[in-house]
Amino acid sequence: MMRPRLPLHLNASRLVSLCLVLLLVMLPVAVGCLPGPPATRRGGTVEIPPTPPGSEPAPGTTPGQPGTSAPVYAASLRVHFLNVGQGDAILIQSSPGGTALIDGGPRAAGPGVVTYLKAQGVGRIDLLIATHPHADHIGGLVNVLGAFPVARIIDSGMPHTSDTFSDFLSAIEKQVLAGGCVYETPESQVAQLAANVTVTVLGPERLASSANDSSVVCRLDFGSTSFLFTGDAEEPAERALILAPKPLDADVLKVGHHGSSTSTSAPFLAAVTPIHAVVSVGTNTFGHPSSITLNRLTAAGATVHRTDVAGHIIFESDGESLQIAVVQGVFALLIAPAGNWLAVAAAGTAGSPATAKTAWGYQWP
Ligand SMILES: [Zn+2]
Repeated sequence: MMRPRLPLHLNASRLVSLCLVLLLVMLPVAVGCLPGPPATRRGGTVEIPPTPPGSEPAPGTTPGQPGTSAPVYAASLRVHFLNVGQGDAILIQSSPGGTALIDGGPRAAGPGVVTYLKAQGVGRIDLLIATHPHADHIGGLVNVLGAFPVARIIDSGMPHTSDTFSDFLSAIEKQVLAGGCVYETPESQVAQLAANVTVTVLGPERLASSANDSSVVCRLDFGSTSFLFTGDAEEPAERALILAPKPLDADVLKVGHHGSSTSTSAPFLAAVTPIHAVVSVGTNTFGHPSSITLNRLTAAGATVHRTDVAGHIIFESDGESLQIAVVQGVFALLIAPAGNWLAVAAAGTAGSPATAKTAWGYQWP
């Protein structure tokens, strides 16, 4: 239920106004408190401060010094689809550059998400997108917001009456009042995690009648590689994106609504033409993922990856090619630099995630 001590409830624009004022007042304090300089907002675009010469930051750390104008260009990008059970949580790390998180999984997954992020070297989140207010997407964000400073938060603007949503707003309020955090609604937002890594919000252009169809949909572009994240958007939202029209073509599709038959319509799939499709799903009573959707994806030529089968699914891009690693299952599909997707190394088998650890130096919580 709503908490009366939260005057900022349900009104993102008011929060934005408040936080802009707070930013002006508290900027010197924020600079002194955060592990790095806060991102600055310029006309809807967050620019991550540049990296000083000779200091390559670990993924997820804040690069750079304030006051310099040299742009940061990422050399690599990692996109982690976390196995949070029934829900979504996606970590994006530009190296060098910034860190973004899309959703945080259900409440029970929150501590594990925080542990995972810390294991990847995340000390601060430059961009946090909460696609919509359902608990399987924002529940874990309560822990995340309590554990990391967040520079910029975008959500759908759709309210909810759940205690989870109330706790989510309380956690945002703390970040905004602490300074260095802006809370925004999604319309046409763009964020640069590096000069060559762009997160573009494609929708919704307006709230729909359902929370699912109000999901924040965004794309991620790095060089010639691209990802499309759809939250729980269903067919009406997909149709709006097609009619707009929005740039939907992407290499990797985060399949909408956990593979529900109400998402991933044939026209939408024809617009996206994914090479890889990731279904973030766990034990559920909704029949997710639908065999209809899985068959549609396969027929469209996409390779389907499921978090309930594979565990965490991690893509790494150099701007031209993609590698994919799966933990808790068979892994290692290497995409050749020429852009051809080739199975180069079946180095891991089920139950041997250590190979993936060795290959990329990850520490799995
Ligand atoms: Zn969901």
